[in-house]
Amino acid sequence: MEFDLIRKFFSEPFSALSLSNQSRVLLGIGDDCAVLSQSSNQHLYVSTDTCVEGVHFFEGDDPWSIGWKALAVNLSDLAASGAKPIGFTLNLSLPSVDHSWLASFSQGLLKQAEVANCPLVGGDTTATRAGSPVVVTITVLGERPINSNRLTRCAAQAGDDVWVTGIPGLARLGLLHQFAQRAALQSVLDDTKQALFGRVWPALPAQIQEHCLSRLARPGIRSQFAIQASPFMHAALDLSDGLSGDIHHIAKASSKVIILQEASIQSMWTAFLGSGVGALSPDLLAFLLETTLIGGDDYELCFTSAPRHSGRISEIAQSMEIPVTVFGQVQASESLAHGVVIQSTKGLKTALRSNSFNHFGP
Ligand code: ADP
Ligand code: MG
Repeated sequence: MEFDLIRKFFSEPFSALSLSNQSRVLLGIGDDCAVLSQSSNQHLYVSTDTCVEGVHFFEGDDPWSIGWKALAVNLSDLAASGAKPIGFTLNLSLPSVDHSWLASFSQGLLKQAEVANCPLVGGDTTATRAGSPVVVTITVLGERPINSNRLTRCAAQAGDDVWVTGIPGLARLGLLHQFAQRAALQSVLDDTKQALFGRVWPALPAQIQEHCLSRLARPGIRSQFAIQASPFMHAALDLSDGLSGDIHHIAKASSKVIILQEASIQSMWTAFLGSGVGALSPDLLAFLLETTLIGGDDYELCFTSAPRHSGRISEIAQSMEIPVTVFGQVQASESLAHGVVIQSTKGLKTALRSNSFNHFGP
């Protein structure tokens, strides 16, 4: 039964992808270990992420999107390291076997695996007690030439620009809409902000609403951009828990001060929303700014780079039709202090609190 399940939903649907990578995948699903060939001029990159029903996705969410996203969030870590995907494993814990759920999950997973040309090479499938959540753990393997720069969180240099890809915050708008639809918005927003969201969402054109929802459910990962632009990057990470917290990781690991510009984030929104939504009032701009800072689930890249490379980075992004924004600068910290400061449009500087998601937070 377990083996039928693995064959039907994983080894068979994914076999063509393994076959097209057969010079790499010497032995795939079905034996005790997978065997992959490795090139001596590449370093191996490894990362893993878990998605838990009720924590990372709603019960009853579309299984196709759960499959897509479970792999996407892992590919995002590889992208943030400038590594090219070479394969992944899948550990599935299921309280029951639902064939139509598994078929759709497997199709979403396969689609993302095909987009990234990342074959499934093995995994584990276990039954959990009835009523337990579905748990999906993926481990991705990637590679990057040994002589290329290492994109770590600790590599930011004084004078660097701080960049983001895409529009961080879109996934949170999608998530707030999901909460609103479940009549649960009050669990995440106070009354004033509920009212602001009630003005923002209906004012968005349908295709932007759709974009927010798809950014949440089926994020497109910036792998190609990261690989091409990585020679010009210093520090990098992917935004998974929220910009305000994630950016602190770079400041802390690099022992630097990062100054973020409110005006740049607001211009990013104005440019993205375009003329379709009319002029944005100060309270709506403030709401969107906060959405960008605290929203998780964006899986955009945040990186630092010397200003002399800005033209090259913009060109690469433009060639892939990916919006990119410089929204801050890195400064040397005077003492051992590090931190993140946000400068308002009026020039006022305040320390930015890390306000992103913490699994064990209050
Ligand atoms: P073992 O007894 O060695 O743990 P399993 O019976 O769990 O092996 O798995 C049999 C084969 O199927 C292995 O090659 C394993 O990698 C693969 N496999 C199991 N579950 C999955 C899954 N969810 N996705 C992909 N491959 C899987
Ligand atoms: Mg096993």
